Amino acid sequence: MNEGSSTCPFCHPDGSLFENELAYACPDRFPVNPGHLLVIPKRHVADFFLTTKEERAALQSLLDVAKRHLDGKYAPSGYNIGINVGVARG
Ligand SMILES: [Zn+2]
Repeated sequence: MNEGSSTCPFCHPDGSLFENELAYACPDRFPVNPGHLLVIPKRHVADFFLTTKEERAALQSLLDVAKRHLDGKYAPSGYNIGINVGVARG
């Protein structure tokens, strides 16, 4: 179903915490802070701006799920939500 590159780490997550039909959320391998998660579309796309309306809705919905999870686990005082686009995304 997923025709993404076999070397693409985002097509082969280490272990997703949450998922829905079109997206999944997994811990970042190089967390900036405790609770650093990646929310990624299941389809292999180059960046956020190439996602469909449905995929964006799926990403948004997982973001809500992840926030509730992190609220319960870490009770953080705040969140950073970032979107990485292009070669500088790292
Ligand atoms: Zn991929």
